[in-house]
Amino acid sequence: MLVDSHVHLDMNQFKDDLDDVIARARAAGVGEMLQVCYDARSVDNTIALTRRYADVYGALGIHPHDAKDWDEVLEKKIKEGLLLKRIVAVGETGLDYYRDLSPRERQREVFRRQIGIALYFKKPIVVHSREAFADTIAILREEGASEVGGIFHAFPGGVEEARQAIDLGFLIGIGGPLTYKNSRLPALAKILPSSAFVLETDCPYLPPELHRGTRNEPARVAIVRDRLAAIRGAEPVDVERAAESNYARLIHKKRNIPGAVAYTIKGNIYINVTRACTNNCTFCLRNRRDNFLYGYNLNLAVDPTASEMVEAATALAREGRYGEIVFCGYGEPTCRTADLLEAARALKSLGLPLRLDTNGHGNMINRRDIVPELAEVFDGVSVSLNAHDRASYARLCRPDAGEKAFDAVLDFLRRAAASRMACTVTVLDYPGVDVEACRALVSSIPRARFRVRTYYME
Ligand code: SF4
Ligand SMILES: [Zn+2]
Repeated sequence: MLVDSHVHLDMNQFKDDLDDVIARARAAGVGEMLQVCYDARSVDNTIALTRRYADVYGALGIHPHDAKDWDEVLEKKIKEGLLLKRIVAVGETGLDYYRDLSPRERQREVFRRQIGIALYFKKPIVVHSREAFADTIAILREEGASEVGGIFHAFPGGVEEARQAIDLGFLIGIGGPLTYKNSRLPALAKILPSSAFVLETDCPYLPPELHRGTRNEPARVAIVRDRLAAIRGAEPVDVERAAESNYARLIHKKRNIPGAVAYTIKGNIYINVTRACTNNCTFCLRNRRDNFLYGYNLNLAVDPTASEMVEAATALAREGRYGEIVFCGYGEPTCRTADLLEAARALKSLGLPLRLDTNGHGNMINRRDIVPELAEVFDGVSVSLNAHDRASYARLCRPDAGEKAFDAVLDFLRRAAASRMACTVTVLDYPGVDVEACRALVSSIPRARFRVRTYYME
């Protein structure tokens, strides 16, 4: 389901044909819209819209442009509205030093006030920030806004700013500017964690490139989804699933999302074999409290059995057409070689190529050469290397076995590359990884292919 997390359906631009606009949104797959209030009149309008349309929810607050109008009457009205079930957030509030339509001191004061209200009502905050990022983030931090989190709508910053917003529990709102020439949003959107974004139109404003100069509307959030998918090398359905899940966890406080034994991303089926690993890479994500990947909860309470893996992957394979089945996990699958092989043998009958993602420690872990057994069932193996010598491997990957782990990986690699499996060696474009030195090393291994993987920021 598509969600448009930022709409202004009460604006004049929609007064003649709102029913048609909503119908087009639904036809485009939009299942929910967050109607965001901006001034005193918009408070009543927003509440009315949430009553009129089952798929419209509301946020109540005052835009920084109108901070000058904030008074006790307005505050009381907003607080009363926030008692309603379908009013799910506070906003839009924040700072706008670009247009400066209210005195800056007043903007800051009213912003702090609204954060306080959000904390009281335990509802997330929809933030508007323009030419004011440093003050915005400082105030959010000072007021303890991470308690409720929120959405930085029409995200105004680059990678460093995004990191600060995410650290504070905020999602990055991505809309029409993703399609604009000279926008720096695509570079950020490419590497954002899939758990950190929501989609929005900000309609009637910010239409996508091909529609510039026209009134924007919620149906066009599909254009943003498709562009974001193309930028990230993902499928539209992946981006849609991720954005919906991120939104639902924040706005509707969706909890207890079951762990995924198998899941589909980018046209492949992945099997979440284990969380155990013999490395502890500096860039590893597995020890985070939450591990959502494109909407899937990858934190399993216990490792799945071989038959659970087979069942989960088979169910997915029945639903659609996929390129391959990949055994991976936020951990090392060869820690469970017997189950891994049992599941892979059973899944062979689906007729899809089977691949193993590994850190290359398999022979060391199992104290024997497991490559012949792997090669009997797997068509391909991807080995993550990320280092060109023992010292950098020890520093980046922090293996349990110490520096000798690097030699074990190289030995595994040579054997895997010499087997019938297609063998790919991957390195991350992560600070401290010497990609060119790794490339040179891999080029000395016959039949091994080399691939650089994008590191998604966390
Ligand atoms: S090898 Fe993979 S799973 Fe293991 S610590 Fe490194 S990144 Fe994490
Ligand atoms: Zn807005």
